[in-house]
Amino acid sequence: MIIAIDGPAGAGKSTVAKRLARRLGFLYVDTGAMYRAVTLKAIENSVNIEDEAALIKMAKETNIDLTDGPEGSLTVFLDERDVSLDIREPRITKFVSDVAKIKGVREVMVGLQRKLGSQKDSVLEGRDIGTVVFPEADKKFFLDARFEERTQRRYKELAQYKKDVTEGEVAQDLSNRDNIDSTRKCSPLKKAEDAIYIDTTDMAIEEVVDRLEREVRC
Ligand code: C5P
Repeated sequence: MIIAIDGPAGAGKSTVAKRLARRLGFLYVDTGAMYRAVTLKAIENSVNIEDEAALIKMAKETNIDLTDGPEGSLTVFLDERDVSLDIREPRITKFVSDVAKIKGVREVMVGLQRKLGSQKDSVLEGRDIGTVVFPEADKKFFLDARFEERTQRRYKELAQYKKDVTEGEVAQDLSNRDNIDSTRKCSPLKKAEDAIYIDTTDMAIEEVVDRLEREVRC
């Protein structure tokens, strides 16, 4: 069984997807982490973010693996190195949407996501899961929230990681990524026609997870 959860940053996707996967005993696949890992590699290797051919070549030669980490967390491996924390750095967030808009990079990532999802019952979370990666998913959800709420959530999350950013910078980053992610030519962020739309602005996390679990089990 495949469950697709899409939506913009800060809508609650990661936490909800992780908890839902745990409740159901499914594999949790954070597809954003994969684009972040490729971006990290590009930055570390001084690959120009505007050089599409070099980025595609690099993506093809990259090994990305996701495994369950401690206390329900996710461990992300980039070429066998644990980069779970590094990929959350603001310097990665700043460029990830520019890397993720490249068609050839997406093709490599989508191939990997389909491979992971077809091995086991899975909850996949991202921007194009219900529209492109698994258009035949058994259940599709599109999580959204008011911009101010999404900013607050992302800001608190970054504070947890002790990242030194202001709320204004977080808002700027979200609005920039929303713009690139929803206007790009290849697989833009959009709700699949058959996805259930949920505005999580005034909902507690557990409430959202309960709602999704009910929909999945019915
Ligand atoms: O989910 P997260 O915010 O970590 O994703 C980081 C970025 O990766 C997004 O802003 C988007 O540009 C890209 N992404 C994507 N398609 C996905 C998941 C993430 O383009 N399925």
